[in-house]
Formats: sequence, structure tokens, C-alpha cells
Amino acid sequence: MILSVNQAEKIILNLIHGIKDRETVDLHHGFNRILARAISSELDFPYWDNSAMDGYAVRYTDVQTTPVSLKVVTEIPAGKVPQTSISQGEAARIYTGAMLPDGADTIVIQENTQVQGNQVLILQPPEVPGVFVRKRGEYYQGGKPLLKAGITLYAPEIALLATVQATQIPVYRQPRVAILSTGDELIHPSQTLQPGKIIDSNQYALSAFVLSQGAIPIELGIVPDRKEQLRLKMSEAIQLGDIVLSTGGVSVGDYDYVGEILTELGGEIMFSRVAVKPGKPLTVARFPSGCVYFGIPGNPVSALVSCWRFVQPALAKLCGKEQPWTPQWLYAQNQQLLKSQGDRETYLWGKLNIIEGVYQFIPASGSHSSGNLINLAQTNALAVIPIGKTTIAEGEKIMVFKTL
Ligand code: AMP
Ligand code: MG
Repeated sequence: MILSVNQAEKIILNLIHGIKDRETVDLHHGFNRILARAISSELDFPYWDNSAMDGYAVRYTDVQTTPVSLKVVTEIPAGKVPQTSISQGEAARIYTGAMLPDGADTIVIQENTQVQGNQVLILQPPEVPGVFVRKRGEYYQGGKPLLKAGITLYAPEIALLATVQATQIPVYRQPRVAILSTGDELIHPSQTLQPGKIIDSNQYALSAFVLSQGAIPIELGIVPDRKEQLRLKMSEAIQLGDIVLSTGGVSVGDYDYVGEILTELGGEIMFSRVAVKPGKPLTVARFPSGCVYFGIPGNPVSALVSCWRFVQPALAKLCGKEQPWTPQWLYAQNQQLLKSQGDRETYLWGKLNIIEGVYQFIPASGSHSSGNLINLAQTNALAVIPIGKTTIAEGEKIMVFKTL
């Protein structure tokens, strides 16, 4: 039976369970990692009442009618603790970020004042009490939840963690992804190209893809189409990887052994064909250890499209990320007539641009053959033609997801 893309995706996500193992990383290495525990802090933020501007800390009741002259009794630079409190008729010279002195409740910005010896003339009343004061705990009260488990740490989250002094961060272990290329014809890029041979690009491509997903690639190299060697290598891959990505050997050719070896090794094949173009012979198996094996067709474009459409959600879930795991579709205006046979969900690669605020999908020029690796470069999105539809006209709406 041939599955729809959505059915296959559902089966894959059901097979995958988020990694629960945690490790602690220094915040410097926290970027792009998944937080494994909710974080909260005992600290309030701001830590204490402080000034948002350079100016004068005053009592609001003193400055309601202006001009008014106040005595400057102290100066508070950022980082210093105020030494005096402010009484009626007094002000403190204060700088951005400095602690507010007791007695003061409002900041008058420097631009609305005039210095007169040890007095300051307030030229304009502040709009409301408390203006330009950042109150202690205004943005975050200590003890409340700050960051939840399952989020990805990017620059803003890293900043937050630093500010609450969380420099040792609990994150999930990164998934290990074993990668192997199968095919008698394959050679390593460093080898001399002999007639009939094909250079293994998939190993590199899939490794880069795995890295882009925040997982760890384990490159197991090229395996010829020999059952014994393939069995050994596949068995090693299943032991090493949380998931395995092999390319090639899943079609109906006489040398396509991956499917039968998966069964011999104790795997349960969940499906071996999907109504998708490119990438129809995608084979997915699960092993009692929990390892999920993706037997991916060998054509370089099929391989990457399969990764983007089927492996990416699996890795997102496996990483411990919160939902959504599946591609985030958006509507774009199609820039060029696209055709499909209509019998399989068809993916076309191209560039997603924003022109005058509207998403535009520009299909890669040249052949959309699964063997044409060349025009895949410099694309950043996949567009889909659903089953039953044979054309999408220029200017028509098309569903697209980003691959980068
Ligand atoms: P297969 O899926 O094994 O039938 O391979 C389909 C096509 O993809 C054949 O033309 C292969 O030579 C090519 N191919 C398979 N594996 C790779 C690879 N690792 N790198 C580049 N091309 C490949
Ligand atoms: Mg092959």
C-alpha cells in the first residue's frame, strides 16, 4: 500500500519519542540547544528601582508646578548605592541604570532641567508620577516561571539566562544520527572519477542537514551493494544512532537490499513507499532499541527533499523541542507555471522571497528532476502541488515551507 505524505508523517512522529537524557552546558555553548528543564530565578528584574534616563531623581509632589528649584544633595552614578535619601525640596543627580534613592519616586530628564550651582531648576513637570523609573520586579518577579522546557535557546533566551545568573544550563542530549551512503557506483569526492562512477554527495549533504537541525552526524561512509557488508554497516548504524539515514538501495532494483536487511536485523518496516515526488521509495523501520531507520532514495535531490519533509519533523521531536514539529506552511504567490502528474504530492524547490510584503515563490530554473542537484543550490523553500492538481498557474497561490 502506498501512503500519503500526511499518513507517513504521522507514522514517523508516532515512532519518535523526545530524548529525555539531559546534560549541563556552559551558557557559552547553549546556543541552539533545547532547554531540558523550566528555569525560574529568585531575582526580580529589574533587580531594584532604577532610572531609565540621565536626569534628576525627585519627589513627584515637589515638581507639579514648574519652574521649581530643588537642592541637589547627592549624585548617583550607575552601579553605586545611594548614600542619602531625598527629602522635600531636594533632588539627586542620577544616571541611566542607577539605583533610585529613598524618598524619590520620579525622574526628570536632564533635557528639562537647568543647573544653577548646587540647585537644579526643573523646567517642566513630569507627565505622571514614576515616569522614567524602572520599578523593581516590573518585568519579572522572582519565583515565577521564566523559561519553559522544550524551547530553543537563541540570543534573547541566552541573554535572559545570563541576567538571572544561570550559566550552567540543563539541555537535552543532542540526537545522534548515523549516516551511510549505499551503492556500488559511489566514490568519495577525493577519489579519481572513473567512468561509470558517481561521487557520493549525500554523505556531505545529509551531514550538513543533520547539523542544521541541532543533531550530531555520525558519518559511516560508503557501503557497496553487497548484502554482507551492508548488513554489517546497517547493524553498526542502528547501534550508534538514535536515528539512521541511509541513502540508496530502497528502490525495486536487483541490488536494492536495504528493505530485506532491515527485516533480517529485526526491524519492523512501517512503510516503504509514499505518494510523493521526489522520494517515493522512502522506507521507514523501527527497531526494538527505539532506533528509527530512514531508508532514503539515493538521488541527491530526493534525499534532501526526504530529509526536509520527513526527517526534519522527526528530528525536531527527537530533540525534545516543543511543538510544532511539522513544516510551517505559508502561502506564496507562484511566479511561474508549475506542472505535476497529479498522482503524487509533488515538491518543487525554489526561492521564497518577500516582495513588497508579499511572499513570492520563484521555482528554481532548469529541470526539477530528482537527479539535478545543481539547481537545488541557492534555494530556500519547497513548494507543494497536492495530489489531484496538475498545474499551478503563474500568480496563483501556492503552499510553501522554508528549508533554511
Ligand atoms: P538508488 O536510490 O540507489 O537507486 O540511487 C538512485 C540514484 O541516485 C542513482 O543514480 C545513484 O547513483 C544516485 N545516488 C545514490 N546514492 C548517491 C549518493 N550518496 N550521492 C550521490 N548520488 C547518489
Ligand atoms: Mg543504488
